[in-house]
Amino acid sequence: MDTPDKTAFLDEQLDDLRAQGLYNHIRTIESPMDGRIVVDGHEVLNFCANNYLGLANHPRLREAAKRAIDQYGIGPGAVRTIAGTMSLHVKLEQRLAEFKGAEAVITTQSGFTANLATIPALVGKGDVIFSDALNHASIIDGCRLSRASIVGYAHNHIDDLQRKIVETTEYGRRIIISDGVFSMDGDIAPLPALVEVARQHNILLMVDDAHGEGVLGRGGRGIVDHFGLHGQVDIEVGTMSKAFGVTGGIVAGKKSLIEWLRQRARPFLFSSAATVPDVAACLEAVDLLEESEELVQRLWSNAALLKRELQALGFDTGRSETPIIPLMLGEASMAQQFSKALFEEGVFAMAIGFPTVAKGAARIRVMNTAAHSQSDLEQALAAFEKVGKKLGVIS
Ligand code: PMP
Repeated sequence: MDTPDKTAFLDEQLDDLRAQGLYNHIRTIESPMDGRIVVDGHEVLNFCANNYLGLANHPRLREAAKRAIDQYGIGPGAVRTIAGTMSLHVKLEQRLAEFKGAEAVITTQSGFTANLATIPALVGKGDVIFSDALNHASIIDGCRLSRASIVGYAHNHIDDLQRKIVETTEYGRRIIISDGVFSMDGDIAPLPALVEVARQHNILLMVDDAHGEGVLGRGGRGIVDHFGLHGQVDIEVGTMSKAFGVTGGIVAGKKSLIEWLRQRARPFLFSSAATVPDVAACLEAVDLLEESEELVQRLWSNAALLKRELQALGFDTGRSETPIIPLMLGEASMAQQFSKALFEEGVFAMAIGFPTVAKGAARIRVMNTAAHSQSDLEQALAAFEKVGKKLGVIS
């Protein structure tokens, strides 16, 4: 008997993605993550990782992970609430709380799970979430999982947020949620104004600082530190998968919040704990950041040079205020063509299209790192100029 092809519709959907220029060609990295990497057999300059400080292949993190493996093995073999909490996890949470100047911290397996852990533990049916229109997918999914009603407000638009708050008269608990640094545009949330609105209306405030952790604030202490708002933002989510060069989510806040998440955050209760080498490397990253601000400063000076020169060449870098530099190119097919041509010039920078950004707002997202030298930046700029001119993006 013939078996029907029950997944034929997926082949059609995949063809559709290809036809629209929205198919993701996933490249394979064959070297450690760094400023220069080997991709699909070619050595290229890397301008698309979130490895802001170059810690993903830092000798001190590598050594710390190796030492910890010798002492504790690899996997925790359990969820945090059963047998997965090792002394390393506890130490990392204490060190992060000290570093960030927060009362307490809980860590999760990733930034994505930090949002899935936090939002549904705080709000549910009958409650209301005010969510910035450009919030990250993991916030959106956390909001949906919570079953609270979601009221979007225009991106970084405080007046619109105020209006939506006043219009929304039926609610149980209320929370405002915003990215700290918006991951595809590199602009920063107006946190002092959000704090003020949240205070005025007595609403919880949560910020997801995935791209501010290790980047913003004194020595990379994050967005709350950047604005000097310690103790005034109820929930600060972050990640150790970007500037920290490893992986793992962070939630910082008052002791009662963190204690509640330890009791009720589902990824903490139902998904196994982060592994030994990950946690040990994160601890070393905190030590490194506390010892010196040099890497954070280098990241920002590299970003400033790159942005200034890209703008001088005539590229539209959108609203970027941080080391995330978008080159706005419009159609997804143009962004893909641009990325391909850059790769041929020895520069790896991926095209970003729908659904990560809106249709017609495709871009190349240029991510530099403290691991880039001045000559790396100059070489990359020459490639951007050549490809930009060839494709008619700049004149
Ligand atoms: N929040 C934001 C704002 C992000 O940009 C990202 C990463 N793309 C995440 C959460 C998820 O972090 P992680 O990669 O650690 O899961």
